[in-house]
Amino acid sequence: QAKQLGRNRYALYSEHFDDGLRERMLLEAELRGALGNGEFSLHYQPQIQLSDQRVVGVEALLRWQHATLGAISPAEFIPIAEETGQIHDIGDWVLRQACRQHLSWIAAGLPALRMSVNISAKQFEQPGFAGRVAQLIAETGMIPEHLELELTEGAVMTHADRAAQTLGELRSLGVKLAIDDFGTGYSSLSYLRTFPINKIKIDQSFIRDIENTPANEAIVKAIIALGNSLGLETIAEGVENLAELECVKSHQCHEVQGYHFARPLAPGDFVTWHREFLGTAAA
Ligand code: C2E
Ligand code: MG
Ligand code: MG
Ligand code: MG
Repeated sequence: QAKQLGRNRYALYSEHFDDGLRERMLLEAELRGALGNGEFSLHYQPQIQLSDQRVVGVEALLRWQHATLGAISPAEFIPIAEETGQIHDIGDWVLRQACRQHLSWIAAGLPALRMSVNISAKQFEQPGFAGRVAQLIAETGMIPEHLELELTEGAVMTHADRAAQTLGELRSLGVKLAIDDFGTGYSSLSYLRTFPINKIKIDQSFIRDIENTPANEAIVKAIIALGNSLGLETIAEGVENLAELECVKSHQCHEVQGYHFARPLAPGDFVTWHREFLGTAAA
């Protein structure tokens, strides 16, 4: 009886394993055509400056809409793209598209907002990455000071010497640099002292339920104080409600981003949202 049960369990487990593998292979195969088929788009999530409640930037977030599989999360397909090497073409497309969007919004009369773009560790580590960014800036006519690149701690810490050089090259282009998901990486803080970083993005896991979780509040408070004393800007990610907003505000965080203000929006929806937000702020 027990043996029978054990075998059934094993069979169940291995079926699930196969499912996972099959899905992963399917995604890998479908991802190959995604760029060419125009299945990617960017959504934009506003970033609000707390001192004056102004929208000062947007984060570009990649969306993959597959004809039959539907919407697939970047958390699922970015790691696959990194393994297959497609991240380089996808990353170039994202940067180019974000820069074009930025310029077309300015042409349409929107105020110039900072455009933040996520950069994968694999892209950042690719020799000549800063040159590639310079080329895309030249090609699109992007104003480098309006472009911010989001890097993870892992990306800048893995090959710290080379990273320092690449970061320096990027900064000399005029581009801004932010550390994404700050506080979740396993790394020393010494890089903050030496690397030319502009901003810390406090990971949303610390913001979640911050008003009821003294440990989260203590960590966020410490990160903001650290940022302030090193002359770095701070932004809280994943602010979902008023209580979380009030809490990070009380600790003098510079900016916030999260569902409380808006979800990542398609370009047209962002323009509508922004107009309404300006209207509300004026009223
Ligand atoms: P991230 O850069 O840390 O982006 C923040 C994620 O949190 C986004 O998920 C965003 O939709 C979500 N988010 C924003 N506000 C809230 C909130 O209030 N509550 C909650 N629960 N979530 C919120 P998304 O768009 O699914 O992206 C996931 C991750 O995929 C990103 O994390 C980033 O690491 C990666 N990613 C997205 N777009 C790109 C891209 O163009 N290139 C690269 N290399 N990675 C990307
Ligand atoms: Mg990000
Ligand atoms: Mg993040
Ligand atoms: Mg809460």
